[in-house]
Amino acid sequence: MLNEIFIQTEDQRAILETVRQFVDNEVRPRAAELDAQKDPEDGFSWEIIEAAHAIGIRTMTLSEKYGGLGTDSLTTSMVVEELAKGDLGISVVMAQTLKLAQIMEKALNEDQKSRVLPAFAEDPRGCLAIGITEPDNASNYFLPYPSSFRTTAEKTEGGWIVNGMKHFISNGNRSSFYLLFVQTKKGVGLSEGSTCFLLERGREGFSIGRVHDKMGERLANNAELVFQDCFIPDENVVGEVHKGFQTLSEFFPQSNAYAGASVLGVAEACYSKAEEWAKIRVQGGKPLIEHDGIRAQLAEMRMLIDASRSYIHRACYLADNQDQGWDKTLGALPKAMASQAAWKIATWTLEIHGGHGYMKEFGVAKLLRDAACFLHSDGVNRTLFLKAANFMYDVPDYNNN
Ligand SMILES: Cc1cc2nc3c(=O)[nH]c(=O)nc-3n(C[C@H](O)[C@H](O)[C@H](O)COP(=O)(O)OP(=O)(O)OC[C@H]3O[C@@H](n4cnc5c(N)ncnc54)[C@H](O)[C@@H]3O)c2cc1C
Repeated sequence: MLNEIFIQTEDQRAILETVRQFVDNEVRPRAAELDAQKDPEDGFSWEIIEAAHAIGIRTMTLSEKYGGLGTDSLTTSMVVEELAKGDLGISVVMAQTLKLAQIMEKALNEDQKSRVLPAFAEDPRGCLAIGITEPDNASNYFLPYPSSFRTTAEKTEGGWIVNGMKHFISNGNRSSFYLLFVQTKKGVGLSEGSTCFLLERGREGFSIGRVHDKMGERLANNAELVFQDCFIPDENVVGEVHKGFQTLSEFFPQSNAYAGASVLGVAEACYSKAEEWAKIRVQGGKPLIEHDGIRAQLAEMRMLIDASRSYIHRACYLADNQDQGWDKTLGALPKAMASQAAWKIATWTLEIHGGHGYMKEFGVAKLLRDAACFLHSDGVNRTLFLKAANFMYDVPDYNNN
């Protein structure tokens, strides 16, 4: 286990070198301009997605049977982190797609896989999304509280009629396939009465609502998913009816760590900028880095980055090897740690740049806006601490609170 986590394999090094070149050639040169677009939809670039497809990044979590590399969760988290050093939004577009491809290959039945995975693998623009959050249900489903999803499905012959809406959905307006969580049983909480459905783009009654105008992470789009009498057939139920939450807890163990890896990449981009500036900016007759306080702060940044990465890698390794010591807090806390670290590091980077950091041209402002994203995305941190605490202390009748 130690080797797996702490020493990169030849394959991992080769994959990361490819990703580094992709970031240098395709992402970094475009990121600032795309980030500055006024219309949130214009921050998204199909060219970047197609370039990621061309070198195999987009599909790398699929098994070789479907044309992927079958990368494990540890390797995938390294890729997600590397992408985020270039831009957080690109990392998230890819992380969602890589994660859901990995999950779909495990959670879908053979018929569903044959309908989805080859089509996804062949489409150079294939992106994936997951719709859970609603205006009234966010922390509710992370904990979960005994509320019900407002997006509901009524049984009809051969399938379900879905009505309602989801919001904040990453890749919501860009995806070809979705996993969608819907209340299928009235009068019970969402953990007992919701179902996970496979949803295809273009299904009648399903449309895209608003594309959210976000403060950061602007190279990724987030959107509302709107359902008006949308028929979804029985063949699209993933797992068992009314057991959507079992699907969520069984197949998503590494999701939180991938989110942590994305924001960790932003922390590293901040650190590099702070270090670079500290070397060239002279005050008090010497570069900032020769002032003890600044140098010590760089070491503290390094510590926060290294510790967050170790936590993420441990969670990823154990998510794939649960018999070796997986515990459920690893599905909630690594992202909270990495995002707190990134937020601290981003604000320190701003301080080290002084007034220059406040000027947009230096690029610190973008990193600060990006670093804020994961204080809330993939679960608000406080909510995740509470979720972990409920696992730790085995709160007995939590669902009846
Ligand atoms: C950029 C971005 C991308 C996202 N992508 C997706 C996606 O692809 N798919 C998807 O389904 N969702 C997605 N989400 C939703 C995300 O996972 C969060 O659930 C959501 O952002 C929480 O927002 P909220 O305002 O509804 O928070 P709320 O749940 O309303 O929380 C508000 C505050 O109340 C606190 N709080 C809530 N309950 C308690 C409690 N019991 N005790 C103490 N404090 C509490 C929270 O910690 C928080 O501080 C995304 C969100 C963002 C911002």
